[in-house]
Parts: sequence; C-alpha cells; structure tokens
Amino acid sequence: MKAAAPIESSYDARCRRCTRLAAFLDQVKAEHPDYFCGPVPPFGDPSARFLIVGLAPGLHGANRTGRPFTGDWCGPLLYSSLYRYGFATRPESVSADDDLALLDCRITNAVKCLPPKNKPELSEIRTCTGYLAWELGHSKDVRVILALGTIAHQAVVEAFGLLRRDYPFGHHQRHRLPGQIVLFNSYHVSRYNTQTKRLTESMFHAVLGDVRGLLA
Ligand code: SF4
Repeated sequence: MKAAAPIESSYDARCRRCTRLAAFLDQVKAEHPDYFCGPVPPFGDPSARFLIVGLAPGLHGANRTGRPFTGDWCGPLLYSSLYRYGFATRPESVSADDDLALLDCRITNAVKCLPPKNKPELSEIRTCTGYLAWELGHSKDVRVILALGTIAHQAVVEAFGLLRRDYPFGHHQRHRLPGQIVLFNSYHVSRYNTQTKRLTESMFHAVLGDVRGLLA
C-alpha cells in the first residue's frame, strides 16, 4: 500500500485521508446537497496570538455552513463570548460569508471532517492532528491556545510531540507548552454541556477573561 504523503499545510479542502469520514461525508452530501460537507477550514486572523481548537464540525452546524461553530447550538456562547472580550467584531456568526471578523483570534478543529455521531476514532484524530501540528509549527505569533474539551486538548498536546499523561485535561486549567505558549482548557461549548449547566456562561467567561488578561 502506498504511504500517505506527509501533511505540510494547515488545511487541504480535498483531503480524504480518513476513508470512513470521507465516505460519511459523501453520504451526507447526497442527503443534503446544499451542505458544505468537506474539511472545514480554520477561520480567523492568520497571525493571531489566540488560537481556539474545537473537536470537529457538527452535522447541521459547521458541516452545513463551512465555518467552525456556525449554524448550530455550539456557536452562540462561543461567538458572544469572543465579542465580549474583544476577539470578534460581532456577537454572532451567521454564515461563512457574513462580515464577521475575528480579532487576534483564529478557530480551528482537531478533526476537520464531520464524524458519525460526533465521535471520531483515535486513528482519525491522530491523522488530522498532522494539520494542527503544521498550523502550530507555522504560527509563530500564537501565545495562547484554548482547547475545547478533552479530545481537542489531547490533540494539541500530541501536536507538540508531548505526552498526554503529563498534561491532564481540566476545565479552567492552564498548561505551559514549549515556546512560552499557554494552553487553557475549557469544557466544550456543546449543546449537552450548556443545557446541563456543566458549562455555564459565567464559567466560560471566566476562562476567556483569563485569556484576555494574559494577552493584554
Ligand atoms: S478528518 Fe482531517 S485528515 Fe481526516 S479526511 Fe478530514 S481533513 Fe483529512
């Protein structure tokens, strides 16, 4: 079998390295021809100091609109909070072609393609971490990373070539990474977490407030 080419970019719109995910996207595209249904690109300032890493596109959210955290339940808390702390020009993200801009901030996902039942397999996370590793290795301005949820956190740790066991996830924890980069953790802004109050608005604001304080 021919070995996969090394990943040397932060994004490839035609990537089909994860065959299960590629087949699933084909299936969803057949059911929803107007959906984006591809690897969702990072969104925001290419030279941002603040990088947010989410898990993966949601079926009717980023997978539909083509912009991270846009179009479903996950977006409102994230974007309204980014606006509150000066990282966005507006408090909501409506579509990939609205005029929202992120300020000194960029959002990407650990897994760029929609996984069935929102659950990527470990091999898929590790494969897509190649894009994240390239992005981190070529983003010399990044000073603070916010990982939303355990999987995003572990992907960031592995993208730096570090061991997961040395960096346990914990909401509102912060970790020192190579290059003076600070990694913050937050519970994911998912529908489940916000509806069950596992993650409240004030809890998320406390994390973003600390990020803003560090970058001030
Ligand atoms: S999840 Fe990432 S590595 Fe896998 S097919 Fe999509 S873009 Fe490629």
